[in-house]
Amino acid sequence: MHKDFECRFPYSVLRSVAYLYKLQGADIVSRRKYLEVNTEWCKGCRICVAFCAKNVLELDDAGKVVVARADDCTYCGDCEIRCPDFAIVVVTEEAS
Ligand code: SF4
Ligand code: SF4
Repeated sequence: MHKDFECRFPYSVLRSVAYLYKLQGADIVSRRKYLEVNTEWCKGCRICVAFCAKNVLELDDAGKVVVARADDCTYCGDCEIRCPDFAIVVVTEEAS
C-alpha cells in the first residue's frame, strides 16, 4: 500500500502540471447565443411559430415575429431552417 502511494504520487503531480500547462496555452472561448429577427423580411407567415417545439415565438400586433420567451429557446435552429425568407437566425457570438 505504502509503495503504491510512492509510485503514484509523482505521476499525479506530473499530470496536474501538464493539465495546467495545457490550460494556459488553450484558447478558452465563451459563446453566447441569441435569436435575431429581421422585421423587414418577416412576412408573418407563422411557419417558425408553428415549428418551434418550445413555443418561444409569437407574432406582434404588426404581424412580425417576436421572441416572446427567449429563456425557453434551445437554439435548435428549426425556426431558422424553416423560415422561407431568412428572417430569423440563431446568432452565435464568440468572445475569448
Ligand atoms: S417563418 Fe420567417 S417570415 Fe414567417 S413569421 Fe417566421 S420569421 Fe417571419
Ligand atoms: S431556435 Fe429552436 S427553440 Fe429557439 S425559437 Fe427557434 S425553433 Fe424555437
